[in-house]
Amino acid sequence: MIPFNKPFLTGKETNYIQDAVLSGKISGNGVFTQKCQQYFENRYRFKKCLLTTSCTDALEMAAILANIEKDDEVIIPSYTFVSTALAFIRQGAKILFADSYSDNPNIDADKIEALITSKTKAIVPVHYAGVACDMDKIMELASKYNLIVIEDAAQAIDNYYIDKNGIKKALGSIGHMAAFSFHETKNIIAGEGGMLTINDEQFIDRAEVIWEKGTNRSKFFRGEIDKYGWVDTGSSFLPSEIVAAFLWAQIENIDFIQDKRKMLWNTYDVFFKKNQEKLKFTLTITPDYSTNNAHMYYIIFDNLDERTKAIQKLKDHGVLAVFHYISLHSSPFYISKHDGRELTNSDCFTDRLLRLPLFYELSIEQVEFISNLLK
Ligand SMILES: *Cc1c(COP(=O)(O)O)cnc(C)c1O
Repeated sequence: MIPFNKPFLTGKETNYIQDAVLSGKISGNGVFTQKCQQYFENRYRFKKCLLTTSCTDALEMAAILANIEKDDEVIIPSYTFVSTALAFIRQGAKILFADSYSDNPNIDADKIEALITSKTKAIVPVHYAGVACDMDKIMELASKYNLIVIEDAAQAIDNYYIDKNGIKKALGSIGHMAAFSFHETKNIIAGEGGMLTINDEQFIDRAEVIWEKGTNRSKFFRGEIDKYGWVDTGSSFLPSEIVAAFLWAQIENIDFIQDKRKMLWNTYDVFFKKNQEKLKFTLTITPDYSTNNAHMYYIIFDNLDERTKAIQKLKDHGVLAVFHYISLHSSPFYISKHDGRELTNSDCFTDRLLRLPLFYELSIEQVEFISNLLK
């Protein structure tokens, strides 16, 4: 049986967890947390990183920091995970769902402006499959209408956007804030875990407070104030050192992990491109402004029926391939709140997109086996 995903362990996770446990400091914001945060800040030029218990939590922090309030409007692609919308729903916002491109599930940047009203507060682009959204266009709209951009970079660790001047910028370093996930299905994992990155300095101080239950505890531990107290809203958004220790073992191996994933991704892609005229599906297109972090290999069928047959055929040969999101605008929770606009591209990906197995321990032979079955 070839599973869809298998979490990769570097072998050092339990050593570092043991170090954390024996150090006697296992609650959050300790040595491992700070090592992880500094690594990401230095490597990807995020102004500030805060580890969180999940990407969902990082998005919730971002929604609080952006001061999203009742009846504010937030623009989000419909083809995304529930968490992208949930963080803003919890603040009482109204979600305006935007459609995807026809050849790529990312939010169609040319369809955003028509959705902006005087109530719009934020745009939340999702870098689906780790592939960059058109950030130049999105940031231009944000500055024109004074909106906050929060990147849902859950799948986008170690990937880059190439801007209109040819400058390479890490995803998660472009919007005012961004949220990453270290869930076991992502490239770099901690079981459950996430990270908020903050690139607009005005949010940094308050982010630390919201992260630590509304207290100024971080400042206290840096010796910047004499005592700490309750100064704002917040929650317990920080993970324990046990989670950060696990994550550190992954970070140390990030380049090995990424190289292997890219090699497998390319094996699929080269095989399919070579056999393109025999295929009953189309391949992913990575826009010129995005590099590839090999988070996901997906293919697009002509219709739901073809996809269902392919899933069954793969299953018959012991391969688990899975479809992905159901458009959020037509979900049971949101359908009555949606304004009725049709989002046909998003619905197409709901019916036609199929994700193939892609994980560190997958072998080239297995990729070739799966590719041949699909051919
Ligand atoms: C995985 C994922 C999330 C949620 O991440 P968690 O860490 O599980 O909370 C949010 N958005 C997208 C696009 C994701 O892929």
